[in-house]
Amino acid sequence: MDEADPIAEIDQLQTEICVLESHLDRLLARIRQNEEVLRRFQSLETQLLGLNSLRELVEHVLEDTRTVFELECVTLALVDAKGKIKQFLQEDGLASDNLKELILLPTASSLQPIFGKAFRAYLGAVGARHRALFPEPMNLKSCALLPLVRRGELLGALNLGSADGSRFGLGMATDFLDRLRQILAVCLENTLNFELLRRTSLIDPLTGVNNRRFFEQRLGEEIDRAARTGEPLACLFLDIDHFKRINDTYGHPTGDLVLAEVASQIRAQLRSQDVLARYGGEEFVALLSGADEKRAQEVAERIRRRIEALKITDHNHRVISVTLSIGLAEYNPNQVTAMTEIDQQRFLELADQALYVAKRNGRNQVASGGVYLRPPEAQAAQRA
Ligand code: GH3
Ligand code: MG
Ligand code: MG
Repeated sequence: MDEADPIAEIDQLQTEICVLESHLDRLLARIRQNEEVLRRFQSLETQLLGLNSLRELVEHVLEDTRTVFELECVTLALVDAKGKIKQFLQEDGLASDNLKELILLPTASSLQPIFGKAFRAYLGAVGARHRALFPEPMNLKSCALLPLVRRGELLGALNLGSADGSRFGLGMATDFLDRLRQILAVCLENTLNFELLRRTSLIDPLTGVNNRRFFEQRLGEEIDRAARTGEPLACLFLDIDHFKRINDTYGHPTGDLVLAEVASQIRAQLRSQDVLARYGGEEFVALLSGADEKRAQEVAERIRRRIEALKITDHNHRVISVTLSIGLAEYNPNQVTAMTEIDQQRFLELADQALYVAKRNGRNQVASGGVYLRPPEAQAAQRA
């Protein structure tokens, strides 16, 4: 047996240590890289969870994912069967047609073959069948296509495209990406529900105009606005005359039709910034910003005439006419400052009482309660 050479043994050990050290360095570098990736994912996820509207969500997803992961292209495909997504974005001032990274699909059928029945993410080369998800002709070599799924339903896909062919490949770990897509799917579902609720909870389903809850929210805002700008604000109460007879004579469905038609005719006489709400039953309320008593009387009279001339045909081809009584009042911020909640209610009462005057005087007419003034006892209480 050879005598052990201590020098050779030390050399051997040193080589082994070097190899180990380089392994360790690589391991540490990997850990640091993973930490960095995790940090980026977490910051993106935190951003997503804090967003409030669909517009914000779409814009952040597209912009942040691209910059955070340094990608050439990120697109978001969303199934928009009823056109609601397009509508919500439009109402928020974002024309989806101009945003090429957002792809709205009428059905999920073009996405399903990519993800299969199990809705698995696709990582790999960009093939011809993925082209529709990257509308811009970019030099993309690899991509990660992440299905967005909630309750077994494919809502869309987040599509990450890279010019680097080795960036996304088959067999790569997808833990981070899976988490991201799950969080995005939850955010998307929540935001869509919220947008829907925000709209439906403030709209009267029968007439399509706003409901009383919306009106009450807006009243305070409109009064504040009037106080800020120094401009007047008019309030109109509009009530259909003898509406009970319409129901009694023609039936409830015809009554509903008349209500909806009257609401739409009133709306057509107002400016888009004016508030119109169904206050209850067959009574509506409107707020005309910038309108004084005289202007409000003109608008009210125009509405009254329009309804008087209206002929509504129901499902049994019966032609129905109705009339409207209107009461109004003006709030002038130069006359009463710092409107309290009680002042606001009294202002509404002034218009409502005028409506009863119009009813008492024979209906189908406009009556004004004038400009709102704080009652003397309330003035004294405020001064004290
Ligand atoms: P006036 O000229 O004094 O206002 O008489 P009116 O008959 O219009 O008023 P009244 O308050 O006596 O009756 C209102 C009717 O409106 C009674 C109610 O059944 C009907 N109504 C309230 N909401 C609806 C609705 O959503 N659909 C239908 N078809 N009728 C409704
Ligand atoms: Mg009535
Ligand atoms: Mg009524």
